[in-house]
Amino acid sequence: MTNTDKNWASLVTLLMFGVLFCQSPLACAQANNTEDWESFGLMHLTVEPGEKISGALPIGAGADGIETFIPVTIFHGKNSGPVLTLIAGIHGSEYSPIVSMQRLPKLLDPAEMSGTLIIVHIANMPAFRSRTIYIGPNDLKNLNRSFPGKPNGTVTERIAHVLTEEVIARADYLIDIHSGDANESLRPSYSAYYREAGGEDVVRESRRIAIAFGLKTVVQFAGSFDSVDDAIYTSAQAVTRGIAAMDVESGELGIIDDVYIDPITQGALNVLQELNMVPGQPLPPNNPLFIADRARVYSEHSGIWHADELVQTGDYVTEGTRLGVITDYFGNELQTIYAPGSGVLLILFGTPPVNQGDNIVVIGQVPPN
Ligand SMILES: [Zn+2]
Repeated sequence: MTNTDKNWASLVTLLMFGVLFCQSPLACAQANNTEDWESFGLMHLTVEPGEKISGALPIGAGADGIETFIPVTIFHGKNSGPVLTLIAGIHGSEYSPIVSMQRLPKLLDPAEMSGTLIIVHIANMPAFRSRTIYIGPNDLKNLNRSFPGKPNGTVTERIAHVLTEEVIARADYLIDIHSGDANESLRPSYSAYYREAGGEDVVRESRRIAIAFGLKTVVQFAGSFDSVDDAIYTSAQAVTRGIAAMDVESGELGIIDDVYIDPITQGALNVLQELNMVPGQPLPPNNPLFIADRARVYSEHSGIWHADELVQTGDYVTEGTRLGVITDYFGNELQTIYAPGSGVLLILFGTPPVNQGDNIVVIGQVPPN
């Protein structure tokens, strides 16, 4: 049963008994009858209403013989409500989401909560422990290109499979939290959602939580996915399954700094309030800057990256602005990199190694009014 089927089934049940009328499956997810509110199970972990539990979701050894696990904490509120899942560490060297998900549990009391919060502390444990960027150390696969995963695939594919079946499929709302990777400068922090994928209800609810998160910049991803097999990104997998989802990007270069961590923690609390899962009023709308298109530059060479000292991420740059140069390993210039469009310089490589095909620049293009 897909999550959408599940929600529609609950809608039909509620309508049959005349308990209430819901405008959408997602709205129904917030309105389940509290009398039916029971324990919540996730693989071998079971948590009663008003309680929390932490544990490891096992990833069994495949043909590669590699066993690993996914550390999670589940807050099962005393009262009924939606299931919100927060995922950190899809990329193991993106630390501000991981540190934020260490801090968030200390701010929450399940006895005061409604609904269920699943916190995935570190999705990609092999990448975290090996300190790799983008990819896992064993199979060299990018977890955020590996959904829905394979039960008998490589370790990255097995992690994706468990996340899909056990974590994503259980959620009504999903937040996949990233930062610039350990080689990437990234500013400002932003949230993002699919503006076309998953159908009207999913787009509306995804946009709702992306704005409620409270960051001043919101990126709108274009496009949709023909099937769950095409939805290789974490949040794409969710929206294609009919689950509202958003991404967050906050942090850069492996830096641990509250200026990047606090907006994630506060944003998660903002969404919990928006969904009526914790007491308190959500913040008023903050009129964010929407970015609908992104321009990218990919390196044509392998060599050494030298960012121009005059530009920084977060700057507004005009098309043609010089951003840096790629040299060979002897210092000879191979390629000068210019801004491919005008807009906010969101991501720029911040360390010397560059490989052919690397995406070294992302510019967020601001739509004309
Ligand atoms: Zn990432």
